[in-house]
Amino acid sequence: MSRFAWMEIPDGYMMPQPHATTALGTRDGQSRSSNYLLKSGNELGIIDTGMQSLGLQELIEKIDGEGGNLRWIFLTHFHFDHIGNAAALALRYGCPVMAHPLDIPAIENPMVLADGSWGFPDAGTSLEEISKELGGARKEEMTEEIIKKYFYFPVRVDRSLDDGEEVGLGPWRLKVLHTPGHSPGSISLFNPASRSLYIGDLDYVMNPSSPWPISNASDLMASVQRVMGLDAEFLGPGHYDGIYKDWAVREYLKEILDRAHSTQQRMEVCLKRLGSATVDQLADEVFPVIPRYAYPPLHKSTIHCFLHKLMEEGRALKVERGGVVKWEEIHP
Ligand SMILES: [Zn+2]
Repeated sequence: MSRFAWMEIPDGYMMPQPHATTALGTRDGQSRSSNYLLKSGNELGIIDTGMQSLGLQELIEKIDGEGGNLRWIFLTHFHFDHIGNAAALALRYGCPVMAHPLDIPAIENPMVLADGSWGFPDAGTSLEEISKELGGARKEEMTEEIIKKYFYFPVRVDRSLDDGEEVGLGPWRLKVLHTPGHSPGSISLFNPASRSLYIGDLDYVMNPSSPWPISNASDLMASVQRVMGLDAEFLGPGHYDGIYKDWAVREYLKEILDRAHSTQQRMEVCLKRLGSATVDQLADEVFPVIPRYAYPPLHKSTIHCFLHKLMEEGRALKVERGGVVKWEEIHP
């Protein structure tokens, strides 16, 4: 019997998948990925494919059990815990893999994450620089070997999806929304027929599953605000359970925004009080208590993303003194 029970959602089914939060550890079982199998008539579509081959058998059994007519694989973003089984499913069902052009390089070749060749002006920094800002801890962890071992699930993308495009499934016309923030090419999918919205990891500012932070806090807050306007009645996040009922979806999205605002506020207060601070110091101040299963550099990634937001807004300044990178408040 499968340990991962499929749950019903308005558009079909959701499967919770086991997931690890540490790159160096194995599956810890304390967090979950969620894959969505949409069914319209005899046509099936899947949104995200899990972390690695453990859930593959269950996915195949379910897809075959529902008729086996998988029409497409929709990848919300490049992270390894969302694209894990995509290559195997694409091969078995001969269906196209779809993703946003900005994330495609890292989906097709995750090694671009290791060599730093995949960069974004928005991230405003290089792999080297980020390693340094994160206290060097990440640099040793994220070798090519580690990426090959834990993050490497390359898959060829057949269709590049931009904002406003439609994805068909039976009579449904699902709408693609470019919702950057968690990653540059994060996309959401909205089914107007059921008012169901699938957001990938839009509810995570920080970037737990890539070797280096590429999230953008301003983009993420704008994206959350945008999907709030859809008045969805079901929300499918990339991890944990779906959210049922429009009022609960509204609450959930509002909480994401409130959390982001509060993180930013706490950082501003800390910068004011400390004068200047390193990412480590800010992380200790802003997140004094970290859940025991949290991926250790994750909170620092969050700090980093918000520092970039403050820098873009002209409210913080990055300075280097004696080889130490610090951040300072800019007085208006
Ligand atoms: Zn992610």
